[in-house]
Amino acid sequence: MPPINLAIVGVGKIVNDQHLPSIAKNPDFNLAATASRHGTVDGIPAYKTIDAMLEAVPAINAISLCMPPQYRYEAAHKALAAGKHVFLEKPPGATLSEVADLESTAAGQGLSLFASWHSRYAPAVEPASAFLASTKIKSVEVIWKEDVRHWHPNQAWIWQAGGLGVFDPGINALSIVTHVLPRAAFLTSAVLEFPENCDAPIAAELHFKDRDDLPIHAVFDWRQTGKQTWDIVAETEAGRMVLSEGGAKLLINDELKFAEPEQEYAALYRRFAEIIRAGQSDVDLSPLRHVADAFLLGKRKVVEAFYD
Ligand code: NAP
Repeated sequence: MPPINLAIVGVGKIVNDQHLPSIAKNPDFNLAATASRHGTVDGIPAYKTIDAMLEAVPAINAISLCMPPQYRYEAAHKALAAGKHVFLEKPPGATLSEVADLESTAAGQGLSLFASWHSRYAPAVEPASAFLASTKIKSVEVIWKEDVRHWHPNQAWIWQAGGLGVFDPGINALSIVTHVLPRAAFLTSAVLEFPENCDAPIAAELHFKDRDDLPIHAVFDWRQTGKQTWDIVAETEAGRMVLSEGGAKLLINDELKFAEPEQEYAALYRRFAEIIRAGQSDVDLSPLRHVADAFLLGKRKVVEAFYD
């Protein structure tokens, strides 16, 4: 089968860190062009806008949209209108409704839309899911604490409305939780801490339950210096499960059961090729819905100003 001619829009940190190495190793894709105001990729035709790129390179079959979420819909709409399959970086958009619109447009055009959740492809996520399906879960604790100055230096968009603030990493935890728990959960209360000079929260505490009253507690905090924590802990009838390091390691009763190097983006591109070849879309909005619920139901607490 001929490779899929792929373009990337929004050449920045995640493209350089993850997309480019994964695309280079995947024979299903040929990187044909980029569109970015400043970013370029060595040896690849580069355009400043998606319009210029679509006009100049009609052979493009699929486009990965890797700009901040506030700017994703417009580009996605143009890509679908031009007949291209679309890979949305996470979060898939700035609102639920705009992504629903993309989903129906893609379906109407017979194109594949992929709302990617890279953390779901962390190596220990499937083993954790299998463990949780084999026992009764008593409680779940999510601890996602990292240093925003280290991971997101000078990213102004992340503090603006629609940038999600601490939910930018927190939605990764939610993408795992929604994948590994046996039943859908829903938010019951939340407190969001907003720096007085920002439109997005720096910390959040969330309580969820499911229809069987399973208690789920999540703490997201961007003020963590020193040890960084990305853990999901479940107390179960078969013991204590810790899915740690963002889904890279699984421990049951303190015994290491599974640990492999992460290859999340390699898996994402395998999945994108698979859905394109099968004529399908893959759009699960449940992680973004939980974030929207937190903004709907959460109490707002103003905390000290944040400066990079
Ligand atoms: P980034 O480097 O700040 O932004 C990516 C690129 O988007 C920028 O280089 C810029 O390229 C373009 N861009 C920035 N502001 C824009 C604007 N106002 N309008 C149009 N384009 C704009 O961000 P990133 O860290 O790569 O994150 C991008 C997306 O990937 C986010 O949704 C993020 O949640 C997700 N993601 C990031 C990571 C990570 O570790 N960083 C991990 C997984 C997923 P030009 O200036 O060249 O146009």
